[in-house]
Amino acid sequence: MKRINIAIDGHSSCGKGTLAKQLAAALGYKFIDSGAMYRAVTLFVQRAGLNPEDEIAVTSVLPEIRIYFEVNAETGHSDVWLNGENVEKEIRTLKVAESVSQIAEISEVRRFLVAFQQKMGIDKGVVMDGRDIGTIVFPNAELKIFMTASPEVRARRRFDELSASGIKTTYEEVLGNIRNRDIIDSVRSDSPLTYTNEYRLIDNSSMSRDEQFEMALKWVVSVLNR
Ligand code: C5P
Repeated sequence: MKRINIAIDGHSSCGKGTLAKQLAAALGYKFIDSGAMYRAVTLFVQRAGLNPEDEIAVTSVLPEIRIYFEVNAETGHSDVWLNGENVEKEIRTLKVAESVSQIAEISEVRRFLVAFQQKMGIDKGVVMDGRDIGTIVFPNAELKIFMTASPEVRARRRFDELSASGIKTTYEEVLGNIRNRDIIDSVRSDSPLTYTNEYRLIDNSSMSRDEQFEMALKWVVSVLNR
């Protein structure tokens, strides 16, 4: 059976991870959340008390950072680990979200993580979501999907998710963070989030999870039959 790599890029909080997990489960592929890796680096930097905008300081600690994924026996999902500690929950806080896009602008951080991401895709059978997966990490991915939705819809969904997991925040705070990350991620000079005609587009502002999954699965089947 032919195996492919699937790249899912798009704006913050538009359900890329949800779709990527569904596709990976349906196909028996590995799901990799590249954003979790940028978040783990951010957590390390914050704990070390470094300024996320200090490129030299951030670059100097990269050799001390070891990030990997392990399947959580309770949830069945793969969690991100940082130097021997499961940080899956902590990297989702708004505190980390507030600095992650600054960290992700640093070219050395990108080089460090992209090399690791490319290694994970060598044998194919990977669904990876992020901002630069179809452009930089897997430019030859057989299927590239670009996802978006209005900022208000995304903020509402993320706010509900954070509240459900017990994280205290407000809708306005979440909306502000999403708008801010959209801008930084799209205008940065290294690997900006870019929509090209190689992507198939999903705007899920008024689409259900099942509808978008069916649509994406049809694309997968057509690529596999090519
Ligand atoms: O996907 P998620 O929202 O968790 O990603 C957090 C941040 O990590 C993004 O806002 C972006 O700044 C950065 N990121 C990136 N490239 C990726 C994945 C995430 O720059 N491939």
